[in-house]
Amino acid sequence: MTKKRKKKISMSSLRHVFGTIMWPRRYLLLFGLVLIFFNRLAGLVLPGATKYLFDDIIIPAQNANAVGGQPDMSPLRLLLIVVGIAICVQAITSYTLTRLLSIEAQRLISELRIRIQRHIIHLPVGYFDQNKSGALVSRIMVDVEGVRNLVGTGLVQLCGGILTAVAALAILIYLNAILTCLALVPLLLFAMISAWAFGHLRPIFRRRGELNAEVTGRLTESLGGIRVIKGFNAEEREMKVFARGVDTLFQNVKQTLNATSLVTSLATFLMGLVSVLIMGYGGMKIMEGTMTVGDFFAFTLYLAFLLTPIIQMANIGTQITEAFAGLDRMQEILELERERDNPARTQTLDRAEMEITFESVSFAYENGDEVLTDVSFQARPGSLTALVGTSGSGKTTIAGLAASFLTPDRGCIRVNNIDLATVELDSYRSQLGVVLQDDFLFDGTIRENILFSAPQATEEELQVAVRSAHVAEFTERFADGLGTVIGERGVKLSGGQRQRVAIARAFLANPTVLILDEATSSLDTESEGYIQESLAVLMRGRTTFVIAHRLSTIRQADQILVVEGGKIVERGTHEELIEKNGRYHELYTYQARI
Ligand code: ADP
Repeated sequence: MTKKRKKKISMSSLRHVFGTIMWPRRYLLLFGLVLIFFNRLAGLVLPGATKYLFDDIIIPAQNANAVGGQPDMSPLRLLLIVVGIAICVQAITSYTLTRLLSIEAQRLISELRIRIQRHIIHLPVGYFDQNKSGALVSRIMVDVEGVRNLVGTGLVQLCGGILTAVAALAILIYLNAILTCLALVPLLLFAMISAWAFGHLRPIFRRRGELNAEVTGRLTESLGGIRVIKGFNAEEREMKVFARGVDTLFQNVKQTLNATSLVTSLATFLMGLVSVLIMGYGGMKIMEGTMTVGDFFAFTLYLAFLLTPIIQMANIGTQITEAFAGLDRMQEILELERERDNPARTQTLDRAEMEITFESVSFAYENGDEVLTDVSFQARPGSLTALVGTSGSGKTTIAGLAASFLTPDRGCIRVNNIDLATVELDSYRSQLGVVLQDDFLFDGTIRENILFSAPQATEEELQVAVRSAHVAEFTERFADGLGTVIGERGVKLSGGQRQRVAIARAFLANPTVLILDEATSSLDTESEGYIQESLAVLMRGRTTFVIAHRLSTIRQADQILVVEGGKIVERGTHEELIEKNGRYHELYTYQARI
């Protein structure tokens, strides 16, 4: 089963390689092949010249000397000119090859990175819950590097090598067929062993990429969570986890090095064996007078031409194996369905007030138990729905479904009577605004962070948002105002200030559907007051879902949904529910648990 799957991936990556990587660059690669053809052709001149030098220039000259004649120097001059030209051709072609192809390979790497990032960013939220972001970083930045060997000089070298080997083989057979057969036996043995070795290596290379991604992922997380690690005095444990990861990686590299060094030394050994065979047989033939000295020299040189590319191929084979392993992993990601790929999403939502209805919605996270069962409610246009309940009851999941981050397993969510599962995501999400607890701000200026939701907004619109979210109250104190850089490279904002930036961002987006996750931790009183005020304005006229922790928000709600174990156990307004004296009343009495 696993074997079958592996094969399938390889085939698809093969198709992928030819379709998207090689084909668009066919002219360049073809040009590379022409260059390598002339390069190798020029390379063949030298051994041919050696035979000519011995058999047709030196020996006749020696014979002429022996009978007292003047040796003719002109053939030697001609030979030197031809060899000189051949060497120049070799130098120029190999320079051009490297320049052209290496640069193209780097361009390709950039293109592939962009492609994978573009694909990954469109994968559903669930994918990011399951994959460490550090691992994804490695997919985007490291995996594609191997591809360099396909478009870079690697593949062209391989073709050139094969070309030279074939030409050299033909000449060898022409020079001496029996000697060629003698040399070929160890070579065939070598070819078989290296073919086996590369088959064996490929999964190990593949695993290396995965390991790399895992180790990088964990490292990124642990550096990001340094406070937790230090707070729980867990440095030692984290060091061990990292050391273990690095060691697994080392073992993997060791395995491949073992195999490649075996192949390389085997090559040296077999080459030596070939030399011995040739020396023996060739020497004997020269002594018998059935082979000329020139033929013998030319034979050994051409044999080197046959051997060098074969040994090079071992190296290039490793590179190409690595490239395919990277492509396999890349292909796996590219085959994952993006949110927008769903053909069912055909309906476009016009900008309008939104009525959102949950009809018997059930949901389970991947490999998990059902966390929502039969949830039904209606949120009328412009109304405020407060989700309350103990932690883990399913509030965030309901909000995630309403935000179209998740899709129901059973039941249906309707937006203005259209099934949300059939709605084209852009048309819904462009009307959505989210303000989450630990709101995400980039390294950059406060202005950039607010404009993130609507980069085209005018200065006036920006100022309205800044004022409505009471951001101006604290930015005025900064020398650079809205231009103040925040995050790692700039000032740190308090939790309350971050929330206000996030609220300004939501104002600017001017959404018709708003999802709020109120901060659980208490904020400074100044921020608390401002936030309540600005949220009240922000929610006005928008269909709002709020995971509510503040009594003031809950009291304003048009409906309160009390969530318990993935079900709505009570619903109504604050007054109605208090009067009911049920679960809400209980939560309200222990207000901290809301
Ligand atoms: P609340 O917001 O009320 O605290 P959630 O909606 O976050 O509750 O969680 C409901 C249940 O779903 C919990 O049991 C939680 O463990 C589980 N859960 C939440 N997110 C995920 C996830 N990404 N993968 C698997 N289970 C999850």
